[in-house]
Amino acid sequence: MIPYARQNISQSDIDAVIAVLKSDFLTQGPAVPAFEQAVAEYCRAKHGVAVNSATSALHVAYLALGLGPGDILWTSPNTFVASANCGLYCGAKVDFVDIDPETLNMSVSALQEKLELAEIRGCLPKVVVPVHFAGQSCQMREIKMLSQRYGFKIIEDASHAIGGKYLGKPVGCCEYSDITVFSFHAVKIMTTGEGGMAMTNDLALAEKMQLFRSHGITRDFPPLKKGGRGDLWYYEQITLGHNYRMTDIQAALGLSQLKRLDEFVACRRRLATRYTKEFKEASVKMQCQHENTDPAWHLYVIRVRERDRVFAALREKGIGVNVHYIPVHTQPYYQKLGFKWGNFPQAESYYQEAMTLPLYVGLNEEQQESVIANCRDYTS
Ligand SMILES: *Cc1c(COP(=O)(O)O)cnc(C)c1O
Repeated sequence: MIPYARQNISQSDIDAVIAVLKSDFLTQGPAVPAFEQAVAEYCRAKHGVAVNSATSALHVAYLALGLGPGDILWTSPNTFVASANCGLYCGAKVDFVDIDPETLNMSVSALQEKLELAEIRGCLPKVVVPVHFAGQSCQMREIKMLSQRYGFKIIEDASHAIGGKYLGKPVGCCEYSDITVFSFHAVKIMTTGEGGMAMTNDLALAEKMQLFRSHGITRDFPPLKKGGRGDLWYYEQITLGHNYRMTDIQAALGLSQLKRLDEFVACRRRLATRYTKEFKEASVKMQCQHENTDPAWHLYVIRVRERDRVFAALREKGIGVNVHYIPVHTQPYYQKLGFKWGNFPQAESYYQEAMTLPLYVGLNEEQQESVIANCRDYTS
């Protein structure tokens, strides 16, 4: 079976992990801050807070912005459930903004209309979470302008988008957001096995996220508070946090993978360009790429009629196609919260036709040829 995604691990990745295994620290050692600094430099943000998953990164990001009971968070229905679930962990109310049928990202016009209505009804969101679907940045400049008008905070769920660019700048630089979150899960663009990071240019937010990732405990005191007794054992728990720490083993793998990131993205772009060229000729519907973006190509998605039939036939042929995403509001848990089919028609109609094709570093020409040939056969 040709999978839809697969990690790429080199000998230098393996050596980096072994070096940490032989070192003094498996966790809370020097590799984590080194990885944070390297990612921050890569995407030109001031701070990076490494955690054990993007889900944890979203959770500490929402907490750092003060999201809580009585607050409202909006995200895209075309995402993994975690973008929404973390709002529920905070006790906030979660709602969605429908997607643009061309880019498959949160629609700026749908966002604007929903904000106008919410202002009248007195139920504006505290936080909006655009998701860079498949690795293509959302229209962040426009979303930022709306945030200034309506007073919400912005968190970019960039789980698909490390290595991508928006208006010539790296995704993660946070020019148009308060916090940007990356995922290093094994299917994503670069990996630490499980892992995530929250980027920000705001020191106060970074410090809050550090607190929430480690039990709400701080050891950072002005010298006087330590009583001048050199009590190095002293710590205080000042809020309720979690254990969301990344290990040094993961961070070492991340540091090594980061060195290969540009190569990964270039390879994904080559593969994606080939798909696009072939499918244009076969009039297969694809995700439109906005001119302001330079996507990282986490996923290559196409839209096909009779998707279920085509999907089954391709799987039968050993092609590990997948579907991203079942709209979050249609999940049974979200239906119990009151959401219904029909609430976000663009996300739903995309889902009916959505199919993700194999795209990863290591997919060879012959394998891609077989994916393309089979897709042509079954979609024509
Ligand atoms: C993968 C993913 C997440 C969660 O990432 P983890 O690192 O697995 O917790 C969140 N949002 C999106 C859009 C994702 O694709």
